[in-house]
Amino acid sequence: MNIRKDSYKHQGRRTNLVHHLAASKISDERVLNAFAKIPRHLFLSKDFEERAYDDVALPIDENQTISQPFTVAFQTQALDIKPGEKVLEIGTGSGYQAAILATMGANVYSIERIEKLHLQAKKILMEFSPTVKLFLSDGTLGLANHAPFDKIIVTAAAPKLPDKLLEQLKPGGMAIIPIGDLKQQKMILIKKSVENIITQKELGNFRFVPLIGKDGWQ
Ligand code: SAH
Repeated sequence: MNIRKDSYKHQGRRTNLVHHLAASKISDERVLNAFAKIPRHLFLSKDFEERAYDDVALPIDENQTISQPFTVAFQTQALDIKPGEKVLEIGTGSGYQAAILATMGANVYSIERIEKLHLQAKKILMEFSPTVKLFLSDGTLGLANHAPFDKIIVTAAAPKLPDKLLEQLKPGGMAIIPIGDLKQQKMILIKKSVENIITQKELGNFRFVPLIGKDGWQ
């Protein structure tokens, strides 16, 4: 049983984080509302609870990280998530990003390659976002059985855009993915038009843990 609680102290810090995001070019009210609802500290180990509402990436198990709140908000806002959309996330990690998407009404499919993280995320999401569907597999291959997706979000650093993910994107859909080397990546927003034409836009520099898989880093 999860005996950790969402106290007034955490709620107050969360409100401050939402104000900070709103002052940092996050203007989508639906994104900000989701941040106000989801208790980020419960997606972290107790050791990092005190820093849960600072705008920083923090360690989770298996040498991975929960993304910085600004990065989660930025990727989510760029995708212009609408209720009912089918969204594929690559890199479940703590499950926090999946919870934000589900809270906005998306129908979320999230893939993780590390079993321990997959199981931990399953436990916490059962409590906060039980509609999220979690998969333990190589996310660079996507989920052919559940494709196509309206939106695809990759939360680990890719050397290039995985072909299968592009194939599994609906015409009229969007994908966001950090592409670059292991030190720094450019956030790339990809649009697939209804005529199947692909366009790409660069949205600044970020730093993620590596996307490891058949069509990622080996
Ligand atoms: N979205 C996460 C961020 C986790 S960090 C959150 O909100 O906490 C990125 C995650 O991607 C790590 O957990 C890592 O194990 C996972 N990952 C890396 N390569 C992957 C792959 N090919 N398929 C699925 N997950 C992958």
